[in-house]
Amino acid sequence: MSKIFVTKSFLPPKEEYFSYISKTWDNGILTNGGPLLLELEEKLRDYLEVKNCQFVTNGTIALQLALDGLGIKEGEVITTPFSYVATTSSILWERCEPVFVDIERDNFTIDVKKIEAAITPNTRAIMAVHVFGYACDVEKIEKLAEKHNIKVIYDAAHAFGVRYKGKSLLDYGDVSTLSFHATKLFHTVEGGACIAKDDKVNARIDLSKRFGHHYNDFIQVGINGKNSEFHAAMGLANFPYIEHIIESRRKISELYDKLLDGLVQLPKKQKDLEYNYAYYPVVFKSEKTLLKVFDVLAAEYIFPRRYFYPSLNNLPYVKKQSCPVSEDISPRIACLPLFVGLEHSVVEKIAELIRNNV
Ligand SMILES: *Cc1c(COP(=O)(O)O)cnc(C)c1O
Repeated sequence: MSKIFVTKSFLPPKEEYFSYISKTWDNGILTNGGPLLLELEEKLRDYLEVKNCQFVTNGTIALQLALDGLGIKEGEVITTPFSYVATTSSILWERCEPVFVDIERDNFTIDVKKIEAAITPNTRAIMAVHVFGYACDVEKIEKLAEKHNIKVIYDAAHAFGVRYKGKSLLDYGDVSTLSFHATKLFHTVEGGACIAKDDKVNARIDLSKRFGHHYNDFIQVGINGKNSEFHAAMGLANFPYIEHIIESRRKISELYDKLLDGLVQLPKKQKDLEYNYAYYPVVFKSEKTLLKVFDVLAAEYIFPRRYFYPSLNNLPYVKKQSCPVSEDISPRIACLPLFVGLEHSVVEKIAELIRNNV
């Protein structure tokens, strides 16, 4: 029996990938801002409705480049405990201190009502996450940031293609970052992007990602955040399938919605959100129930994923801080399998096994 995991990377027809790669054999350019990379960036700017978009090595470097690009080299960064570890680790890697603010129960995004109490004279930025593609309270966050003169970074690794109040969700904040890792909705095998609102910040990110120098002019400390023509080729080959990917995931998600109604807690639908169906998170009544469901699914070779667990304020290398809501949800939440090609009969089986065990 073949195993079913929480996701399965979409792969375009081989010939379509190879036709891009054969251009690389013709022009001999493998990396350093080649034509395929420029073509992908242009397509992304257009599709995502943003002015600036730089294709970088991955979503974690994108977060580090965002902090660096905004000139944040020390101090406190307010962030969420409910995310993938990269959100916290990028703050620490940039020698800043993560200050955790608890989350909302409905959509698992940072609780905007609790941000102001966490702001101190050392606060430099808010790094919030559009968890599972659900929008943070971007308007209130913007107001707080203006009032206290701090920057806003959105880890938008889950928010590819999401629109909010009639515009791209990626257009909010000073910098938004994307991940194009193989497990994400739209992928380039490994990859990510920085979307900066201000052209100067965009230019600084561009310089930092190329070792901080222009030919023989060494301007600032940099890193290697450039991505390659081979990764850009995967992005270009996947590009025409975005609508198909989102549409198939929508159908599967709606089937889950129908079958799981009343059995588990689902995220609250946000009005004004054009969603991308990036994940299918469910909250069980207890961790014990979650573990029991995982056992019965594993017996059928079905492997959902605990996501996000643990709550990041409990990482062994951060200062202890309390976030009761995140600590309550984290042990009880899981993402169910969701990918193009997942058979509806499997979704029905998953739902039935959940129904019989909650
Ligand atoms: C995947 C992910 C990242 C990291 O992206 P990589 O491309 O794997 O480095 C960061 N934040 C969140 C919320 C993610 O899901």
